[in-house]
Amino acid sequence: MTGRVPGGGASGGRPSASGPASSDRPARHGPVRRGFGTGLAILLAIAVPAVATTPYDEATDPHAGALRQCFQSQQTDPLGAAATAERILDAQPVRIETQLRALVCLGMAKGTLGEPAAADQAATKVLTLLDLHALPAGEQARARMNAAGILQTIGQPQRATALLERALDAAKADAPGLSQLMMLDSLALLHAADLENNEVAEGYFRQAIELAPMLGAENPMRYYSAALNLVQLGRHDEAMRAFDRAEAMATRPGPGLDQLLYRIRTNRTDVLVARGERDRALAELQTSVLAQQQLRDVQGEAVSWAKLGALQLTAGDTGAALASATAALRLADQGNFINEQRDALKLLVNVHRSRGELAQALGLAQRQHDMELARLRNRNLRTMAALQAQLESQDQVRQVERLQHQNQVQSLRVERADLLRNAAVALLGLVGVVGTAFVLYQRRVNRRLRRWSTLDPLTGLINRREAARRLAAAERDDRRRMVLFLVDADRFKAINDTYGHAAGDRVLVELSTRLQAACRSGDILARWGGEEFVVACPHETLEQATATAERLRSAAVQRPVRLAGDEAWPLSVSIGFAPLPFFPDASSEQWQKALRIADIALYVAKHSGRDAWAGLWGVDGSGVAPQTIGRDLEALARQGRIRLAGSRPMRWQAAAPEAAADAMGGIGMAALPPS
Ligand code: GH3
Ligand code: MG
Ligand code: MG
Repeated sequence: MTGRVPGGGASGGRPSASGPASSDRPARHGPVRRGFGTGLAILLAIAVPAVATTPYDEATDPHAGALRQCFQSQQTDPLGAAATAERILDAQPVRIETQLRALVCLGMAKGTLGEPAAADQAATKVLTLLDLHALPAGEQARARMNAAGILQTIGQPQRATALLERALDAAKADAPGLSQLMMLDSLALLHAADLENNEVAEGYFRQAIELAPMLGAENPMRYYSAALNLVQLGRHDEAMRAFDRAEAMATRPGPGLDQLLYRIRTNRTDVLVARGERDRALAELQTSVLAQQQLRDVQGEAVSWAKLGALQLTAGDTGAALASATAALRLADQGNFINEQRDALKLLVNVHRSRGELAQALGLAQRQHDMELARLRNRNLRTMAALQAQLESQDQVRQVERLQHQNQVQSLRVERADLLRNAAVALLGLVGVVGTAFVLYQRRVNRRLRRWSTLDPLTGLINRREAARRLAAAERDDRRRMVLFLVDADRFKAINDTYGHAAGDRVLVELSTRLQAACRSGDILARWGGEEFVVACPHETLEQATATAERLRSAAVQRPVRLAGDEAWPLSVSIGFAPLPFFPDASSEQWQKALRIADIALYVAKHSGRDAWAGLWGVDGSGVAPQTIGRDLEALARQGRIRLAGSRPMRWQAAAPEAAADAMGGIGMAALPPS
């Protein structure tokens, strides 16, 4: 947790057995943008209790005491809380509402313990129970909210968001109520803090702000969060109004509101600085620092010192800036507030640098760098563990692999972006150790990223982009003639329709293995897209090409592909091929043109009954422009300009005239009527 403002208004802060309602939420992991760390916890704390007016009655639940204890201790004693939750779940019989609460508490405790897989499992069980039992709308909303909270905690904001968005849609069928408001608040914060999608967040904040007064559920925290979001969007005037509104509400007496008040004032100085009101900003920050010392708001004070230091540094007062930045880092270290540590370190590096104290700057930059690396490593490990837990059934193994691949590519991109950002710090004249470490690490990340992004995650073959790159390179560097084969699985859609997408995936993997076995070293084999593959072989003659086409076809059809259970799919493929260059004397041929002609041939094979191959072969010096190939293939063949080859008598006229025009439009078979 990046800290919180205790208490928080309407709820009065009393944990209840109705859910995490007013209890603390588990530590947040993952990147949290400055200032939002407290948001979700407080908003949930404020909003949830009212939803406990569902038929669930604490008074009649024999487990109410244990549940309350679980929620109270899930952050301070997560091991104990998890044990309590498990005891409740083991008891017989336990009603659904109680099970839901125990699972939520278990998930939160596991999140606090840093066991994302177990937390994920608990959240998933909550959702399964909801699907199986028709519970009152309020009960459902609360449970979905809490499951989303767990997912967010373990670094799965996308899943949390999807869950909430679905729940919100369902809730909108009813009259507006507190559960809707809760969802709007959570969605706003998820988008603002976790997904860094400030525009979308702004929409949700606005809806929540409109709805809250009707339900008597206004609170300063919502305006404060909305204001921070508006600052990120650069909408300073609106941000100022929201800060002022939050300030007015936080000035009233209430638990925790005084801490919130100074956090509002501190963050509002960003707007003041943007407007050029530096003196007022300085004065406000100095007041905040003093007040926060008295209130023992360590995190708030760390933020205020850092903002103060930054202002002093731009004013050229490096002595004062050094004192402020040092205070900020000391407080951030004291509470182990990651974001504040990062900000304070960054500021201190800048201060030392502008004072010419390069040795100190270097030491701090090194520490900052180590922190970032540790954070990235944790994030990757956590995401992978959560993915594994989420997808455990046999059928989903492939999906896990695909997601791992996507995630890896994604997190490498994020790593690269983060590193670039940090590199700016490292390279501020501090080349030495830090610079070298960055460069080496970044190179490794780039290399991994390059390798991952050339492969198709399902089959492990190279993907279309990489194939295009290699074809262009081969055309440029290799003087030998090549032949391009387009291989398309027959009636593939029927597999998906009959046996499901997972079965389809299995057939694609099997097909890729069979094709690979039929290829030789030096051939290019790629997944071109969907159920289409490209093979490129160095061949000089039509005879060599027809032999390869037949080898590929028979490798694919050799035997039915076994599916789950006793089912099997009689796999067959259609193949179209063309040489590259299409005419041997054409010096500036392009592989794209050859592939289009192969696509025309594939079209013919499909129209001639499938499980077949067809090839078109340009004859030396025929004087035909490649783009006219396809108009009337038989006429061109009679004139001796091209040669036609098929695994059996083909319907060459199928390619003319509109069909060819279609195929010429782009690679990728148009849907065919069943023949
Ligand atoms: P035809 O043999 O005549 O070309 O018919 P077809 O069904 O093979 O061709 P169509 O283009 O109508 O359908 C191709 C299907 O392939 C549709 C799409 O859902 C499916 N598909 C594409 N990529 C994948 C994938 O990665 N996995 C699965 N399971 N299916 C895929
Ligand atoms: Mg197909
Ligand atoms: Mg196709």
